Amino acid sequence: MNFKFLNGRLKSVTKIIICFSFVALAGCRQQQQFFKIAKDPHSWSNPQDVMVQHLELELDVDFAAKQLSGVARLRINNKAGVDTLILDSKDLNIERITLGANERTTSFRLGKAEDFKGTPLFIAIKSLSRQVNIYYSTNPGAGALQWLAPTQTAGKKHPFLFTQNQPVFARTWIPCQDSPGVRMTYTADITVPKELMAVMSASNVQQKSADGRYHFEMPQAIPSYLIALAVGDISFKAISNRAGVYAEPSVLPAAAAEFEDTEKMIVAAEKLYGPYRWDRYDIIVLPPSFPFGGMENPRLTFATPTVLAGDKSLVSLVAHELAHSWSGNLVTNSTWNDIWVNEGFTTYFEHRIMEDLYGFDYKEMFAKLEYDNVLQTIERMGDTNPATALRQKLEGDDPDNTNSAIIYDKGHLFLRTMETLVGRKKWDEFLKQYFAEFAFQPMDSEKFIAYFNRHLIKGNAGLAAKLQLENWIYQPGLPGNHVVVEAPALQQVQDEIKAFAAGGSAKELATASWNSPQWRYFVKNLPQKLGAGQLADLDKTFKFSKTGNSEILFSWLMLSVKNRYYPSFLVLESFLKRVGRLKFIGPLYWNLAQTAEGKAFAKRVYKVARPGYHPLASGAIDRILKWENSSR
Ligand SMILES: [Zn+2]
Repeated sequence: MNFKFLNGRLKSVTKIIICFSFVALAGCRQQQQFFKIAKDPHSWSNPQDVMVQHLELELDVDFAAKQLSGVARLRINNKAGVDTLILDSKDLNIERITLGANERTTSFRLGKAEDFKGTPLFIAIKSLSRQVNIYYSTNPGAGALQWLAPTQTAGKKHPFLFTQNQPVFARTWIPCQDSPGVRMTYTADITVPKELMAVMSASNVQQKSADGRYHFEMPQAIPSYLIALAVGDISFKAISNRAGVYAEPSVLPAAAAEFEDTEKMIVAAEKLYGPYRWDRYDIIVLPPSFPFGGMENPRLTFATPTVLAGDKSLVSLVAHELAHSWSGNLVTNSTWNDIWVNEGFTTYFEHRIMEDLYGFDYKEMFAKLEYDNVLQTIERMGDTNPATALRQKLEGDDPDNTNSAIIYDKGHLFLRTMETLVGRKKWDEFLKQYFAEFAFQPMDSEKFIAYFNRHLIKGNAGLAAKLQLENWIYQPGLPGNHVVVEAPALQQVQDEIKAFAAGGSAKELATASWNSPQWRYFVKNLPQKLGAGQLADLDKTFKFSKTGNSEILFSWLMLSVKNRYYPSFLVLESFLKRVGRLKFIGPLYWNLAQTAEGKAFAKRVYKVARPGYHPLASGAIDRILKWENSSR
């Protein structure tokens, strides 16, 4: 999650769209697919001319050297008969490149590196070339790879490795066309130390192999940002006959219990928007340094252990990652400018799954938290700020530089408003058809608008004026027709917040019947300025500093930082050293850095915590603390 404003460079770039066709392997049969590949400002590659269709990875995992080494064999379709294949790469050691099954050596060169894009890799090919073999290795600082020492895992005995490719880090461990508009199938042969297990966003085994060798197949075509690998002391437990959990052995029972509703979520999702197209749905719970809440790697969601609250109160994360199996993984933003097409749809879909399982009133509390977040964010950023438009303009900028309140929560509000104005039945039919029609294809704002106009507006000018579609997608701020989210179950919480703010004591508040989202709302919405006596009263009565719910603990620690409430700083220190989820540690470090003493505390803790953070997280915190010993 990002919490800084988009810097708003709005370079005008002409989007070149070339009609392109290619053959993608799907399952055992060949599917002919036709769609446009947009020019991606965050990729050097030339898929408009020659497209990678299939990848065969053969890699050895060396924990001591923090290195992957081996070969990537790319099957290509040289549609335009060009003499150069351009791939994305970043910090890769390219040893040699050959063409075809008979491995004829070919020439290559690396171009000039650019921020966010890495280095173009130019490979000489022939017009009839079908296969390119790249022998290479990674570097220890590869942005996608996090190498954890045994002490940074739950079990403390074995090292752990996991990847995080989104948005543009696949190129730090695989030379590829690293653009979300390009889809490929893949197979992989991965060799790991034999006491460890490897899993990928592909077909997975459920037990360790005897020799440390693992073979993977991904028959559905996916973009490079969804290729994923995790290696560690991993065990598996089934939830249903098509869903299960992978985790370190000591975490596995709690993870399986927390996620026991997963099968029900899949059923609910299928009922809404059509069949689950990826065979299995498994979840791997990663060590706490995983920088995000979850990552929707197909067939195998990567999840933070901070959602293991013990009472299923944070499982909306599973609903979210599962929903990506349709929005994102099946219908994919064609470039990162249209990431709302992934995240806005998914947040809406997540809410529909949650409503089906746990009821409208329960789900609506989460919706209210997010709704408040949109309003506050737009107020802070300014409602004429172009970065508050759903369609982003990230040319020349970090593709991670988007605000989640906009692309997730404003995106959700857009879809929910459309549902309300169009009617749920009609809206659901529209979305179901949308996912079926654009399955395994890239999507962008223009294409969505055209489809929306064709199937919903149908030339009805009155309806178009009522829905304000283009206003929602292209304009900053919030259109006047947005629905208002109220969540009656939170009204009583608001009353108790008022009573406490007016000088009431914590034990007099009527909290006996509250559930987890109500507590979350309470802590988040307490006055941001409180005295030490009031904070002590709250913690003594409600034990926030000991909660197992990471969202509540985070809000409590934020209050403690803002009010310099030092009795919570030991808990804060241990949280920052244990958890690497950016959504939590980013705002905590940022608020600490606002005072000299807070910054001194933050730097002392960060010095110890930094080696345990993912490169994406340490990069962000380096910038906040102006960390000078940065290796990045
Ligand atoms: Zn998402």
